Amino acid sequence: MKIFCVGRNYVEHARELGNEVPDEPVIFMKPKSALLQSHTPFYYPEFSNELHYEAELVLRVSKNGKYINERQASKYYNAITVGIDFTARDIQAELKKKGLPWEKAKAWDNSAVAGIWKDTTPEMLKKPINFSFLKNGELVQTGITSDMLFSFDQILSHISNYFSINIGDLIYTGTPAGVGECVVGDILEGFLEKEKMFELEVK
Ligand code: MG
Repeated sequence: MKIFCVGRNYVEHARELGNEVPDEPVIFMKPKSALLQSHTPFYYPEFSNELHYEAELVLRVSKNGKYINERQASKYYNAITVGIDFTARDIQAELKKKGLPWEKAKAWDNSAVAGIWKDTTPEMLKKPINFSFLKNGELVQTGITSDMLFSFDQILSHISNYFSINIGDLIYTGTPAGVGECVVGDILEGFLEKEKMFELEVK
């Protein structure tokens, strides 16, 4: 199982971190060990002093493939949820400054949270999808797929030109503006439309 992530897929978020708006999807990966298993507590990573949440829509791959055409791409995923691409922002800032890879900031154990899965339907994918993220009961991030620079199908097609995709792979499709810090004791909740997909406490 592989975890693909898209960076800078919302213009306002690229700007809030002072990044350029990309002309093709920015892709990075997390290993399987990054996925927080259900009923497992999430602990603040000891190597960071600036842990950021990034709430994102996550797709689950349902079919193996490579070189997938954008028009065929929606046949290759069948479930969606909201998740968190946890980022050690202080580590990432250091790595970015030195032009080094991001793994230590992004790919550590349990840095990828995924909520409960909802089957995608053609009807659901025809309309913009809304999601939101609350910290301690306060709305801190909202996103809508119509604001994405690259659509689900463009992302999946692009990824498949470089990597084979396999059943069970996950795709984190990027975070909207509103990322921020979290600390021990924070309660984090993700919603797909009105439905709660996860709730976790930072331990
Ligand atoms: Mg992200």
